[in-house]
Amino acid sequence: MDFLRPTTWEEALAAKADRPDAVPIQGGTDVMVEINMDVRRPAALLDLNQVAELREWAMVSGLCRVGAAVPYARIIEELGGPLPGLAQAARTVGSPQIRNRGSVGGNLGAASPAGDSHPPLLAAGAVVEAESRERGVRMIPADEFYLGVKRSALEPDELIRAVHVRPATGPQYFSKVGTRNAMVIAVCSFAIALHPEERRVGTGIGSAAPTPRRALEAEELLARELDWSAPLDPALTRRFGELCARAAAPIDDVRGTAAYRVHAIGVLARRTLTWAWNDHLGRRAA
Ligand SMILES: Cc1cc2nc3c(=O)[nH]c(=O)nc-3n(C[C@H](O)[C@H](O)[C@H](O)COP(=O)(O)OP(=O)(O)OC[C@H]3O[C@@H](n4cnc5c(N)ncnc54)[C@H](O)[C@@H]3O)c2cc1C
Repeated sequence: MDFLRPTTWEEALAAKADRPDAVPIQGGTDVMVEINMDVRRPAALLDLNQVAELREWAMVSGLCRVGAAVPYARIIEELGGPLPGLAQAARTVGSPQIRNRGSVGGNLGAASPAGDSHPPLLAAGAVVEAESRERGVRMIPADEFYLGVKRSALEPDELIRAVHVRPATGPQYFSKVGTRNAMVIAVCSFAIALHPEERRVGTGIGSAAPTPRRALEAEELLARELDWSAPLDPALTRRFGELCARAAAPIDDVRGTAAYRVHAIGVLARRTLTWAWNDHLGRRAA
């Protein structure tokens, strides 16, 4: 197995262009498990850990640009203010060791339907910055990024450089059902982001379909019927939960049945909307 170790982003892009079969490795919390378990034996590994700029985040044109290698631990410590949904999801990932090594770039690269970053990125309307040596930068909206189970829109010669997320303008929540409280892959998960300035609510469903996905009909319902200055209408909340559950298309597997996941998505959707709405009204009253 070849081990490629670029020290700059340009070198990394050149290495990926010359060796599209090389598997990028960042924190290694997915890649090393797969290699150790003999799930795959790549001809080459492309180690991105020397590319310092991938570990940076900054505000760029009003958006938070989070480098692909920024680990969950730093998202929790440094980005809880602008990106509360993503930070909440990061808190539920693995253990402290996994949160120190694992990155959102790696979560996107793996594109598992159960990855915890995906629902908050979808709810917030994030955009993935991918780049190749030949074609330059490509901005891929999160809801066009996930193509199938562990399959993304990334081309073989592309790398993820960063993810761009608008800082929260309203309350955001992430909620995850697991068989225990820590070190658990989601049975299913749900994220919500209120965008009061647009009178819009974003959603993200995790681990309840072949890909992470938005509950589009549910979003449209709220865009049409929410009264942003009034208490939440229980009938509307119920209908929102039903439409979110209907947007799920889960399977039975070792972690849970499809029927349970559909039910749980409805519950998580109602619950997170209620939490977010209480915060929203509280902020208006303050
Ligand atoms: C014990 C344990 C617990 C876990 N718990 C959770 C959990 O609760 N929730 C969760 O979502 N995940 C969990 N994971 C999975 C894993 O930690 C996450 O998916 C993490 O985000 C992967 O990040 P990484 O930097 O380690 O990625 P890596 O393992 O380095 O890479 C993951 C994938 O992304 C690709 N990749 C990495 N960087 C790039 C890049 N810049 N451009 C293109 N492709 C790239 C790699 O080639 C690979 O396919 C767990 C893993 C373990 C071992």
